[in-house]
Amino acid sequence: MVSSRTTRSSSDWQQLDQRHYLHPFSDFKALGQQGSQIISRAEGIYIYDNEGRQILDGMSGLWCCSLGYGQQSIAAAVYAQLQELPYYNSFFQCAHPPVIELSQRLAEVAPKHMNNVFFTSSGSEANDTCLRLLRRYWDLAGKPSKRLVISRRNAYHGSTIAGASLGGMGFMHQQFETLSYVHHVDQPYWFDEGGDMEPEAFGLQAARSLELKIDELGAENVAAFIAEPIQGAGGVIVPPASYWPEIERICRAHDILLITDEVICGFGRTGEWFGADYFSVSADLMPFAKAVTNGYQPLGGVLVSDRCADVLKTDGGEFAHGYTYSGHPAACAAALATLDILQEQNIVTTVRDSSGPYLQRRWAELAEHPLVGETRGAGFLAALELVSDKASRARFDGDGSSGARCRDNSMAAGLVMRAVGDTMIVAPPLVATHAQIDELIDKARAALDATAAELI
Ligand SMILES: *Cc1c(COP(=O)(O)O)cnc(C)c1O
Repeated sequence: MVSSRTTRSSSDWQQLDQRHYLHPFSDFKALGQQGSQIISRAEGIYIYDNEGRQILDGMSGLWCCSLGYGQQSIAAAVYAQLQELPYYNSFFQCAHPPVIELSQRLAEVAPKHMNNVFFTSSGSEANDTCLRLLRRYWDLAGKPSKRLVISRRNAYHGSTIAGASLGGMGFMHQQFETLSYVHHVDQPYWFDEGGDMEPEAFGLQAARSLELKIDELGAENVAAFIAEPIQGAGGVIVPPASYWPEIERICRAHDILLITDEVICGFGRTGEWFGADYFSVSADLMPFAKAVTNGYQPLGGVLVSDRCADVLKTDGGEFAHGYTYSGHPAACAAALATLDILQEQNIVTTVRDSSGPYLQRRWAELAEHPLVGETRGAGFLAALELVSDKASRARFDGDGSSGARCRDNSMAAGLVMRAVGDTMIVAPPLVATHAQIDELIDKARAALDATAAELI
C-alpha cells in the first residue's frame, strides 16, 4: 500500500490532484493548468520534491515545523500514545494524563498570570473559542453589554467564519458574510502606510486608531482587542517600539481585554516563548497552535489569564463549548514531546541570544540589494520589501507580480520564500545552524538577482 503510494510519477500525481483535490487558498483553475508541486519527503530543514530535489524550507511548513522535520521523539511519542489510549474525550467530567500534563507544562512556559488552557485542533478554532470565552467572561463579570471585538486591517486570525471575520483581509471578506460585531482599525505597517512620518510617531498613531474606535463604539460595548504581536501572513510586520505599550495602555484604560494571537509568534519564534513576552505586554487571552506540536499533529488552544479563569470558574453553570478533539491524546503527546525538545535543547534562548541575532544580521545585508527597500525582522521571522525606487519606496507594478516572480526564482534557487504582495518573508526552522542560515541568505540573494535581471 505505502509503496504504491510513493511510486507514482509526478505527472500522475498532478493529474489525480487536479481531478479530485480542492486545495486550500488556491485558484483552482490556475492550479489545474500549472500542476501542483509534489513534496514527498522531508528531513532536517529541507523538503524534497517527487524528483528528489532538495529545497530549504524557509517557511517551516506553514510556520509550524519550528524544529524541522525528522524529529523521531515526537513521532515515537504519538505512536506510543496511539497504542496506549488513542482517543478519549474530556467532556462529561473525564480527562486523561496527556491533556492534564500538557495543561500544566503550558502554564509553566506561559506568562505567570496565565495558568489555564482550553484546547482546540487549530488556530482558527482557538480564535472561535476566544469569542466564546469573551462573551461568557463579560456576562459572568456583570458587564453583558461588552460584546464588540476590535481587530486590525490586514490581520490574519484563521479561516473559519470567526477567524476570517476577526482577520482583516479584504479578499477573504468578499467571499462570505462577516460577523457584524467585529470592527477593524489601523495596522502598524510603517513601510506601506507611514508616509513621511517617523516610525515611532506612526506607531503611536496606529495604536490610537484603537482608542478612536473605542470612543466611537463606547467602551461599555467593547469586549476585546485582538492582534498578532507581529503580523505573520500580513507580511511579517514588526510594529514600531511605540506601538505595543500604547495598545496596552488603551486596553487597560477602557477595561477592554487584550488578546495576543500567538499562533505564529508562540513557542520561541521571536526568541521568547510568546510574542507578548517579546513586547513585554500582558495579555488576557493567548490563542496558540502551529508550532506547539512542531506541526506533527493538529493542535491549538487558548491560554487564559487568572483574571478570566477565576470568573469562568465561579458558579455560572456550564460553559457550552468544546470540540470532539479538544485535547486529543495523540496531539497532546506530540506537544509534550515538542516542549521537551524546546526546553532540553534550550532552543528559545539560542534563538534569542545566538541564531536569531545571526539571522537578523545576515538578513539585514540584503538591504543593500538594488531591489530591496527595507529589511526587518525579529528572532526567526524576517521580511524584505521589493521596490523600484528605494528613496520613495515605490513598487514596480504594485499588484504583487514582483513578489510572485521573486518567490518563483527563490524556489528555483532551492529556497521556500513566501510572497505577500511585494513583500518577501521567511520563518525558517529555529534549529537552523549558522551555516544553514548562510545558505538561506545566499539563495535569497540569488532569487533577488534573478528577479532584478527580469525587472530592471
Ligand atoms: C495560521 C494562523 C491562524 C489559523 O490557524 P489554523 O491552524 O490555520 O486554523 C490564526 N492566527 C494566526 C496568527 C495564524 O498565523
